[in-house]
Amino acid sequence: MITDTSNAVCLSQYFLPTLKETPQEAQIVSHRYMLRAGMIRQSSAGIYSWLPLGLRVLKKIEQIVREEQNKSGAQELLMPTIQSADLWRQSDRYDDYGKEMLRIKDRHDRDMLYGPTNEEVITEIVAATVRSYRDLPLNLYHIQWKFRDEVRPRFGVMRGREFYMKDAYSFDLDAEAGRVAYNKMFVAYLRTFARMGLKAIPMRAETGPIGGDMSHEFIVLADTGESEVFCHQELLEYDILGEQVDFGSPEQIQGFVDQWTSLYAATDDMHDADRFEREVPEDKRITARGIEVGHIFFFGDKYSKPFNAMVVTSDGAEVPVQMGSYGVGVSRLVGGVIEACHDDEGIIWPEALAPFKIGLINLRVGDDACDKACDDIFTKLNESGAEVMYDDRDERAGVKFSEMDLIGLPWQLIVGPRGLKSGVVELKNRKTGERENVSLESALSRISG
Ligand code: ATP
Ligand code: MG
Repeated sequence: MITDTSNAVCLSQYFLPTLKETPQEAQIVSHRYMLRAGMIRQSSAGIYSWLPLGLRVLKKIEQIVREEQNKSGAQELLMPTIQSADLWRQSDRYDDYGKEMLRIKDRHDRDMLYGPTNEEVITEIVAATVRSYRDLPLNLYHIQWKFRDEVRPRFGVMRGREFYMKDAYSFDLDAEAGRVAYNKMFVAYLRTFARMGLKAIPMRAETGPIGGDMSHEFIVLADTGESEVFCHQELLEYDILGEQVDFGSPEQIQGFVDQWTSLYAATDDMHDADRFEREVPEDKRITARGIEVGHIFFFGDKYSKPFNAMVVTSDGAEVPVQMGSYGVGVSRLVGGVIEACHDDEGIIWPEALAPFKIGLINLRVGDDACDKACDDIFTKLNESGAEVMYDDRDERAGVKFSEMDLIGLPWQLIVGPRGLKSGVVELKNRKTGERENVSLESALSRISG
């Protein structure tokens, strides 16, 4: 019995409109593969529909982001996509935001907009509800679609106009507590990207008029990245997942932040060539291109002042809350991961993000032994909790192999009449390309959920 039909799909029935030709408009590999593998379809410039296969990956990324936000103590809520212009007039950003903001009028001729970010909405909520230092610290986040009318939407989901973002907002009594909140997000981000199999390096970023050192962009190195970056090689060797992280210990969290920020790492805008050469030995200097997948930022009372988000301290004084905001480009990450994990045949999903773990290939549909063996494996894998896509189509082997490589599931289990006669199936690891003939039982025990 199949326990969850969305986790065990037959290709003969699954909606997977793959493309044989490389789409003309796609300039970078992730965009090409996402279109060819039937993950997304462009609806209009910079606006995409997520087809079933792409949606599964988007949801996996979203879930990892969510779990790590929750672990760090942030709480999830959901704010609207459509916002009132008056909120943005209050923070004085309505005119400044310019053409990137999609402005809309409702039937009463009121100015509305499709939210490009949510500082105004969240600050208004907190201003109306939080009164005392006892209500702090507070960190609230949501995962919601944003719209920015980018001048040049390109590279598929990497620079879209409509995109999916996690944005968190921290509220604290003073700047010192604000730093604790900032550091927690810093470490939560290290964990989040590491769980996706990515090396994302935190790099000092512009802080604007408030100055200080509390703004970092998290950058994944990739040749097609939009930013030029400079960093110390050892940053790529650190491993946060090997550490026991205690979000309740500000000292320990600060220790991790210090470890990651003590080595040189900067984007082009912040780069200091002299310092780079002084601080980093020649054989450890990395100059590369990178993709910004996250951005964290402390900005004090920039929004709490105009929204009058005040709290009473333990001495009875009234002070504006200190805020930070923390974004992750959830939909951009789908493309970013592909940029980091692919070869000439297609995508190579890290296991944590793969839309399915196993691609089961029946080489001779209609052959009793093959059909029966595949049905059996399909059911057992699903019962074990493994996510499996079964290619049960009456297609040539070559087509099945190349599509499976393109889609990039971590494991392929290939069942053919000749192997079955001697009691074996072929197990292929997509990443290493290694193929092995193994008994059915040992294949199952190795790849079950
Ligand atoms: P960029 O410099 O790439 O335009 P940003 O500084 O405008 O990014 P933030 O406002 O900090 O970005 O947004 C948080 C995150 O949202 C970014 O780190 C990025 O991963 C993602 N993001 C921003 N703009 C887009 C976009 N147009 N398409 C997809 N993801 C985006
Ligand atoms: Mg931008």
